[in-house]
Amino acid sequence: MPAFICTTCGCQYPDSDTPPGGCLICQDDRQYVNPAGQAWTTMAAMRKNYFNAFRQLEPGLMGVGSFPAFAIGQRALIVSSPAGNVLWDCISFLDDMTVTIINALGGLVGIACSHPHFLASVVEWSHAFGNTPVYLHAMDRQYVTRPDPVLNYWEGDRLELADCISLIRCGGHFPGSSVLHWAQGAGGRGALLTGDTVQVRPDKGLTYMHSYPNLIPLDAPTVRRIAAILDPWPFETLYGGWWERVIPARAKMVMASSVEQYVRAVTGSPERSGSTGSPI
Ligand SMILES: [Zn+2]
Ligand SMILES: [Zn+2]
Repeated sequence: MPAFICTTCGCQYPDSDTPPGGCLICQDDRQYVNPAGQAWTTMAAMRKNYFNAFRQLEPGLMGVGSFPAFAIGQRALIVSSPAGNVLWDCISFLDDMTVTIINALGGLVGIACSHPHFLASVVEWSHAFGNTPVYLHAMDRQYVTRPDPVLNYWEGDRLELADCISLIRCGGHFPGSSVLHWAQGAGGRGALLTGDTVQVRPDKGLTYMHSYPNLIPLDAPTVRRIAAILDPWPFETLYGGWWERVIPARAKMVMASSVEQYVRAVTGSPERSGSTGSPI
């Protein structure tokens, strides 16, 4: 029996003879149901059209993403540590070539996901790497489309995955939305891997939203809280969830200024730069 994959959000469901009646991720107000109607694919069908490509982003950090782009188009990250490789976030497509390459790089000691949108086919990935544990914050458990014993639901505000790898719950986009702090990143100055808990904008600023496709913002106190949670963590580089969504340098300063800009925008502050007071 195939494990059906939603073509809009890319999340995989348990093995079944027929596709699920609907997609719980797409029916949520953070996403949307395909206007042409709910559609499904399978890994076997995808193997005819897709492949994964790898790209080194800095020493010890590699991206892996599918071509052509599928569903929401995120790429995952492979973070190396003294304890082994950790996959940060996941993608829908997996084939034997991908497994061969990652095993040649040392395999995976775990998979950590920022939030349910990026679980994708994570259970199939885990099974392909010896049932390596998958970490998702417990507050997002209700959004898991393919429950499985490999899923570990962590609680609290912080989880030390390895010597230099910490998961930090920020909330916001989802109640359990998390980021990964990699202390060895950026030549030891620290890197923050954010998925879309903190979203890199096209202009290389940052934003924080309940829904990105539906453009539903978060409130100012929630964004202030995210900034306060991340304040103690040093980082120079910030990697969002897509290939081009990276802030290579001074990312902590960018975050500070973007939070102020965001709060001014959503609170209607007269300090908003460029505002003339005109309603149009
Ligand atoms: Zn979906
Ligand atoms: Zn998301």
